[in-house]
Amino acid sequence: MTSHNQELFDASQRFIPGGVNSPVRAFRSVGGTPLFFQKGLGAYVWDADGKRYTDYVGSWGPMIAGHCHPDVVGAVQTAAANGLGFGAPTASELEMAELLCRLLPSLEMVRLVSSGTEATMTAIRLARGFTGRSRIVKFEGCYHGHSDGLLVKAGSGALTFGQPSSSGVPAEIAALTTVLDYNDAAGLERAFAQTGHEIAAVIVEPVAGNMNLVTPKPEFLAALRSLCTQYGAVLILDEVMTGFRVSLQGAQGYYDIKPDLVTLGKVMGGGLPAAAFGGRRDIMQCLAPLGAVYQAGTLSGNPVAVAAGLATLKLVQEDGFYQRLAQRATQLTEGLTASAHRHGIAFCAQSVGGMFGLYFSKTVPASYAEVMSCDKVAFNRFFHAMLDAGVYLAPSAFEAGFVSSAHTEADIDETIAKADAIFLGWK
Ligand SMILES: *Cc1c(COP(=O)(O)O)cnc(C)c1O
Repeated sequence: MTSHNQELFDASQRFIPGGVNSPVRAFRSVGGTPLFFQKGLGAYVWDADGKRYTDYVGSWGPMIAGHCHPDVVGAVQTAAANGLGFGAPTASELEMAELLCRLLPSLEMVRLVSSGTEATMTAIRLARGFTGRSRIVKFEGCYHGHSDGLLVKAGSGALTFGQPSSSGVPAEIAALTTVLDYNDAAGLERAFAQTGHEIAAVIVEPVAGNMNLVTPKPEFLAALRSLCTQYGAVLILDEVMTGFRVSLQGAQGYYDIKPDLVTLGKVMGGGLPAAAFGGRRDIMQCLAPLGAVYQAGTLSGNPVAVAAGLATLKLVQEDGFYQRLAQRATQLTEGLTASAHRHGIAFCAQSVGGMFGLYFSKTVPASYAEVMSCDKVAFNRFFHAMLDAGVYLAPSAFEAGFVSSAHTEADIDETIAKADAIFLGWK
C-alpha cells in the first residue's frame, strides 16, 4: 500500500527545506516520516492515510479545548464573515486586552502580536529601552522563539559570553546574552554579582516546556524576583506555553510570582496566530506611539485570530475547567508510570495543569543536564510504537506533552493500555 504521508513528504522536500515549515516537525529526532494531518476533531487527529490518532501535541499547546470546538469554529466563522482584517483597531482587540489584564493581575497594559517569537523579541527590546542596558540573561534549555539574541547557548566556563546556537546569529549579538543553568539560584546570584548593573532583563520559562518538562524550584523563582528587583532588571516570564495552560492565572498564579513583563501565545490564540506581551504600565508606556521603543505588525490583533482566542478563553473560564484538565494529565502520567514500573522499566512522568513530561529515567529531571541524560533511544522506540498504536506524542524527547478538555477518561485509559502492551514486550 502506498502511503500518502510518504508521497506528500517526498514532494514537500522538493519545495520546502526539509519538507517542513518548522524543524521539529521533520521527525529528525525520532526518525521516520512525519505525518501530514488532514483533520482534527476533539482529542483526535487523522493523517493523510486516514489513520486516527489520539493527539497529545495539540498543535504544540494551543488546542486546549480540543480540535474544532464548535464555539471556536463558530466564532471564527462569524469574525471571518465580517472581514478578515483591517490593519486598524477593532472592538475585539479591546475585549482581548481587557480580558488578559483581568485574568493575569501582573498585566496592566498589553499589546497584541502574531507569534510568541514576536512577543519575546519585543519584550526584550522594551526591557532594553526601559533600562538603557544591553545584557540579557536566559537559561539553557529554555526556548523563547527564534530571534537572534535568544538563539544562544552557554559558552565554555561559567559566566563567559553566550555563543550562537544557530548559524547566522552574529557572535557580537550572542555575546550580549548570558546563559545560565535553569533552577540554579546560586548561579543566578553570581551572575548578578558580577554584571548585575548591565542586565536589562532576565527571561525565563516559569515551567520549562521546551526541554521536555522541568518544574521550577521555589528558591529559583524567589531568586529571580528578588535579584531583578535589587538590580533594577526587568523580569520577563515567558508564558507563551504556560499561559492558560497550567492554570487560568498561568504559571505566575500557579507559583505566585510577580513578573514585570509577560509574554503569551499558543492557547490565547486558540489555534490561530495571536500572541501578546504586557506588564507594568511604566514599562509598557515606553512603546511607540507613547514612547521611543518601536514595535509594529500588519496582522497584529487580527480579528479572526482574536475571535478564536476569545472563544477559547471563554471555555477555559468555565467552572472546574483546569481541575478536570489537570486530572486528565495526572491520570495519564500516573497510569504510564505504574505500567512502566510493573514491567521494570526506568521511567517517570509528571504534569503541571494541562502539560506533562515523560522521562525514560529513574528520577524526574530538574536541570537541562539531567534532561539530556534521559534515555533518548528508549523514548524514540516508545514514540514509534505508540504512533503505530494510534497515539500521537511530540516527535522529540525534549518537548512537553499536552492534554485537552476533549480528552475523556476513556481516551486516557486507552492510551495507557496501549503503552502497557508496549512495555509488556519491552525487554
Ligand atoms: C512556542 C514558544 C515560543 C515561540 O512562539 P512561536 O509562536 O512559535 O513563535 C516562545 N516561548 C515559549 C516558551 C514557547 O513555548
